[in-house]
Amino acid sequence: MRLKKVVAIFGSLIVILVIFMIYSTKDLIVYSNRKSSIDEDIRDNKLLHFEDRIKQLEANLNEHHNAVSEIKLAMKHMRQPSPSTRSIKNNSVPSMNYWPKRFVVSELMYDVSCPIQVNFVPKTNVQMLELYKSISFDNIDGGVWKQGWRIEVDERDWNRQNKLNVFVVPHSHNDPGWIKTIEEYYSTQTKHILDNMLLKLPEDPRRKFIWAEISYFAMWWDELDEEDKEKVKRLLRNNQLEIVTGGWVMNDEANSHWVSIMHQLTEGHQWLQQNLNYTPLSSWSIDPFGLSATQPVLLKEMGLQNMLIQRTHYAVKKQLAMQQHLEFRWRQLWGKYL
Ligand SMILES: [Zn+2]
Repeated sequence: MRLKKVVAIFGSLIVILVIFMIYSTKDLIVYSNRKSSIDEDIRDNKLLHFEDRIKQLEANLNEHHNAVSEIKLAMKHMRQPSPSTRSIKNNSVPSMNYWPKRFVVSELMYDVSCPIQVNFVPKTNVQMLELYKSISFDNIDGGVWKQGWRIEVDERDWNRQNKLNVFVVPHSHNDPGWIKTIEEYYSTQTKHILDNMLLKLPEDPRRKFIWAEISYFAMWWDELDEEDKEKVKRLLRNNQLEIVTGGWVMNDEANSHWVSIMHQLTEGHQWLQQNLNYTPLSSWSIDPFGLSATQPVLLKEMGLQNMLIQRTHYAVKKQLAMQQHLEFRWRQLWGKYL
């Protein structure tokens, strides 16, 4: 009887042990599968980062090549002035041959003889004045933005071979004076944002951040020691930190005169030149209430190549999004070419 009891206890112990072993082995297999998929993700990310760097290098080389060609052309013009420069009539605009290559952009943008042509109808894919007539502005509420619509992503549509590209632009928006003064915003919020940026970006080369308002950036820069200033320059060089627009502020576009816009853009750009030898390439206009057709013209003349706008009417944004027209070249009514 006693022997039977011992055998029963021993038997159940063995069963428990076997169950435990099976469970642990299963767990190990799941863990190793998960680990190998994480490893694969890290490898993929590294590859993507490497690919990005090569693309960047390629872009830099092209830019360098273009700059050299422009300098060569400008020097050629300086040595042999074009005959057309000698035949400029009174009150007429100088022939475009007179200008070095980089000013030819203007020729592409406007008709130099008369900037306003009443009878000229530009050929466009989207004519905003017509679009305004066709939108009902019914203001139906809801969706990911007010009056937008629900955007849903089905995870089953995407996998390792067919990845969904999501573009995330880490940024901050700092008005130099709104509810608080510029100094109050700086000491309570802005300074900490920039301090954290300087702390967190160097930890991982894949991290990015953009900054727009040079008034705040200059205040912060003045407080940095030499070592931190070098860190900032390094982040700019490896494209982890990008200065966008680079104006002293993110200017209002609806009411400002273009002279004031130029004034504040010049202020910011001169600061960037003098302190960082940096020229912004992209513009970032996320909070002006109403976007002016003048702004892109000024920015293009200044050499900026891209711009992002944000506060259009919800109904316009929705309409453009539905037609997949949110990426566009913005041509003014007086503009002749793109
Ligand atoms: Zn704002």
